[in-house]
Amino acid sequence: MHEKCGVVGISTTDRDVARPLYYSLYALQHRGQESAGIVTHDGFQQYEHVEMGLVGDVFDEDDLDSLNGSNGIGHVRYPTSGSVNNCCAQPFSVSFKSGSLGLAHNGNLINTDEIREELAGLGHAFTSDGDTEVIAHDLARNLLEEDLVRAVKRTMSRIHGSYSLTITHDETVLGVRDPQGNRPLCIGELDDGYVLASESAAIDTLDGELVRDVRPGELVVLHDDGTGFDTYQLVETENTANCFFEHVYFARPDSVIDDELVYEVRRDLGRALWEESGIETDVVMPVPDSGRAFASGYADAAPEGVEFAEGLMKNRYVGRTFIMPTQDERERAVRLKLNPIKSTVEGKTVTVIDDSIVRGTTSSQLVELLYEAGAEEVHVRIGAPPIIAPCYMGIDMASREELIAADRSVEEIREEIRADSLSYLSIEAIAESLGKSDSDLCLGCVTGEYPYDIEGEETDREVQRPAVGHSSADD
Ligand code: SF4
Repeated sequence: MHEKCGVVGISTTDRDVARPLYYSLYALQHRGQESAGIVTHDGFQQYEHVEMGLVGDVFDEDDLDSLNGSNGIGHVRYPTSGSVNNCCAQPFSVSFKSGSLGLAHNGNLINTDEIREELAGLGHAFTSDGDTEVIAHDLARNLLEEDLVRAVKRTMSRIHGSYSLTITHDETVLGVRDPQGNRPLCIGELDDGYVLASESAAIDTLDGELVRDVRPGELVVLHDDGTGFDTYQLVETENTANCFFEHVYFARPDSVIDDELVYEVRRDLGRALWEESGIETDVVMPVPDSGRAFASGYADAAPEGVEFAEGLMKNRYVGRTFIMPTQDERERAVRLKLNPIKSTVEGKTVTVIDDSIVRGTTSSQLVELLYEAGAEEVHVRIGAPPIIAPCYMGIDMASREELIAADRSVEEIREEIRADSLSYLSIEAIAESLGKSDSDLCLGCVTGEYPYDIEGEETDREVQRPAVGHSSADD
């Protein structure tokens, strides 16, 4: 599974923002490794540098020196909509009659094609097949007729799907979160300004203080002089649809989302996993690094005598398995990536804990590795429910055909990965640990019912994509 993107926006009193943006993008690198970019504005002119690659490779000293201005946005991307090439790297920037725009988008729109088709019919020319350019064009068009707030509101009334955006309109930096709050976005305060970021870990990196999450449906406009921000609740919805996988897998454990430290939420989920399906084995071990917090909570709740230990060592210098294009290469990559610590495993009964099973490749390889290292029994516990359906909100997690749980029971999956036992965490436990009703969460990939109107899929609430047609902000 890959997170789609990370976004950031910063306004300071008079310090150039290129470096703070660069450090923030480093802090958000786990949210996208395909491309990185920064757009800044100095009050006269917009500057940009966007390239394919990791943050550390995309920018050098000269690039950062050339990005002038105390207001700007940044983006890291793993491609989820649009092709894997530099035409879809972000921020997306465009100049038009009433100024210049830069857009950084985390999420995925459901009705991109309808809006693109309508705008193309009105004479807009598109350079990419991505949804961010569609938002940029729609906003640019609305800005010809409306002020900034009303233009954003009008665009929000037309786009349907998941979006956390940071935007520059000339030297003004804004942040917008979709009405369901599917992806995170938070506000932080710096000594000399304000920051908007996908995760609070980026604010920590800048020695800033987390102020709060941007509310679903809210527009936040940072003051150009870094002295504060204005907020506008542009859309109200009865229920949110926060992606629960942000808490389970995507976000950094040291980030705070909805006032909860992600690491503590994961430990809670681990405790709940013990309550629901704990089994007394000699050793409990995480799949590094993603299973660590779950395993620590699980071991914490287990009776004395169940030892928490590191039984698998990760080779940090191997690329992420999922960028390997074929199944065969993916299987070999698991072997390269993880190696059992024999003394922890040999002659022992073992529980191994991970956050999810997607295709099942890694899990069956792991079970095999542990048996080869001398484990007597291998039990697998997963800190999320089975993934049975794809994600349309921008998480790259494989198609139904590739998902091991799409058409298999838990017992059939256990047989396939050859574990002695296998249990997943329930949806109820997830909702309880997050302190939310399940009707305020997106659970599409584990229920097959989505909080957005997606063609050919079931919805879990009354929701309809907006009719396309150039409406006014008051509609
Ligand atoms: S479908 Fe799953 S991964 Fe996608 S947004 Fe919903 S909960 Fe998150």
